[in-house]
Amino acid sequence: MAYQLTWLSQVLQDAGLKVIECPGWQDRGRAEMGKVLGVLCHYTGGSRQGNMPTLDILIKGRTGADALPGPLSQLGLGRDGTYYIIAAGRCNHAGPGAWKGITSGNSSLIGIEAENTGAKNDSPWPEVQMDAYRRGVAAILQYIKQPDVTWCVGHKEYAPTRKVDPNFDMDEFRAAVKAIMDGAKPTATPALPTEQVSPQRATLRLGADNDPDLVKLVQAKVGVPADGVFGPGTEAAVRAFQEKNGLMADGVVGGGDLGGGVKGEG
Ligand SMILES: [Zn+2]
Repeated sequence: MAYQLTWLSQVLQDAGLKVIECPGWQDRGRAEMGKVLGVLCHYTGGSRQGNMPTLDILIKGRTGADALPGPLSQLGLGRDGTYYIIAAGRCNHAGPGAWKGITSGNSSLIGIEAENTGAKNDSPWPEVQMDAYRRGVAAILQYIKQPDVTWCVGHKEYAPTRKVDPNFDMDEFRAAVKAIMDGAKPTATPALPTEQVSPQRATLRLGADNDPDLVKLVQAKVGVPADGVFGPGTEAAVRAFQEKNGLMADGVVGGGDLGGGVKGEG
């Protein structure tokens, strides 16, 4: 029996987002949702390696001391900005908590588990992932005709005594989601902190002041159009390349290794 959120995949695709449907997702859930009011944002706290290493746990649930039957969220969000569509029914993601007068998180809020360890070595989040996070939430709120962006809530706000996820500023995040809902043009990609690198070891990354010629070399290597601009598409392709080659998929290219291949900074 299909549950009510069978629209999730198409709505995200219509927003221009990458989607992978996990087989059986339309029929997966703990029960039917209630009236859907908004979105609850999480990070997985999973492994540093891979694009969506927590996917299997999100589908099946956790075993052991803190066992919890799956599915653990309707959506997973990979480091490359791909949405994994897991379930169309109710999921065990909220736990005890409250927001704007409701305590029924699991039946009222759609859970998005974005892949991030929550640790320092996994920060800043890839812009391609944050961009997809904001656009996905905006598309969902618009589809359910929820104009009030405060129905996009962080788990750390819903359950402040138990949870710290996600580890980004929710007010800033909501403002960016609201801007998308209002039809504003996407803002410029925020620049990442400038690194002290010698010219021989130039580092290429999204948002940095990259050398277009070096970027073109990288783009040729990872198979995207060589326009010299290190955008979200290039970052995603670099991640895919790194993952395929057993490197840390951080989307950052160390310039000194251009001759031999694309390499993460480690
Ligand atoms: Zn959470």
